[in-house]
Amino acid sequence: PDNTLRPERQPEDNDRALRPQVLDDFIGQAEARANLKVFIQSARQRGEAMDHTLFHGPPGLGKTTLAQIMARELGVNFRMTSGPVLAKAGDLAAILTNLEARDVLFIDEIHRLNPAVEEVLYPALEDYELDLVIGEGPAARTVRIELQPFTLVGATTRLGLLTTPLRDRFGIPTRLQFYTVEELNEIVTRNARLMGAPADAEGAREIAKRSRGTPRIAGRLLRRVVDFALVEGDGRVTRAIADHALTRLGVDHLGLDGADRRYLALIAENYGGGPVGIETISAALSESRDALEEVIEPFLLQQGLIQRTPRGRMLAQKAWRHLGLEAPREPGQ
Ligand code: ADP
Repeated sequence: PDNTLRPERQPEDNDRALRPQVLDDFIGQAEARANLKVFIQSARQRGEAMDHTLFHGPPGLGKTTLAQIMARELGVNFRMTSGPVLAKAGDLAAILTNLEARDVLFIDEIHRLNPAVEEVLYPALEDYELDLVIGEGPAARTVRIELQPFTLVGATTRLGLLTTPLRDRFGIPTRLQFYTVEELNEIVTRNARLMGAPADAEGAREIAKRSRGTPRIAGRLLRRVVDFALVEGDGRVTRAIADHALTRLGVDHLGLDGADRRYLALIAENYGGGPVGIETISAALSESRDALEEVIEPFLLQQGLIQRTPRGRMLAQKAWRHLGLEAPREPGQ
């Protein structure tokens, strides 16, 4: 399948030149940004490691970018790993013992940490200590290793899957929100300028409106629109070129792609608008439940296209209109 429209990280997202490097260049997430600014400055003034920070929210909203910015503004090293990569306690121990004072350790997908690894993390987070078991059986003994004070930055798309003890160890939990069209407009305009393919005001806005509230998608759509602008236009990103390119990519005017529309159409056509259970939708669409809950549903919910009820998912009026279908009339409606 075409991955252009998925918010998950892809190998071709190699856009280091476009990543904002400092907090002041980071557009949007105003509340999170204002708070982080205070916490970063306070940690600097005290000369201490900043408190452990958890970013949660859908993929592509800037969790990794903010973690890198924190390290840069704190003037420390940035180390990056992820929950699934840390298979054994020793993998984490090797990273922790190599940290320098006040470094930032970023663990992406922290909800996927193996429980044995998580056990090692607790004392590291609380007391900057590691308890390692050396040897096996009756000869086994525990050695305590002192660590340098450090800042853990965790990122997760699924806050609900974090264990309570792990969640409780983050002093600074921060929820990232979908971006407004205004904010995405600024990001697209800036990126187009940096790519040497200036976007006019309406061209940038068209891409912003159709980016699912997500900077990563805005970046990808912009790259594809620039391709069309170069090959079929005069190199400028205009509204007409943007609309042409995005329509060719299957992105509609709300920013929904084929997978989103299949989801909505399934509930409309096969289940009379719902309610229908997530497992049923997952089986019918051959999409994993995780992908539906992490990637597809958050934006549909935020747009008011679907509702989550105790009995399952339901289409909202707006979704019927968007599909060009008549909503069934229910008594009392
Ligand atoms: P996440 O870790 O939440 O999946 P990333 O931090 O990897 O998201 O960001 C995804 C992409 O979007 C990156 O290419 C990044 O440069 C870009 N991006 C994210 N937030 C912003 C922002 N506020 N301004 C500009 N670009 C952004």
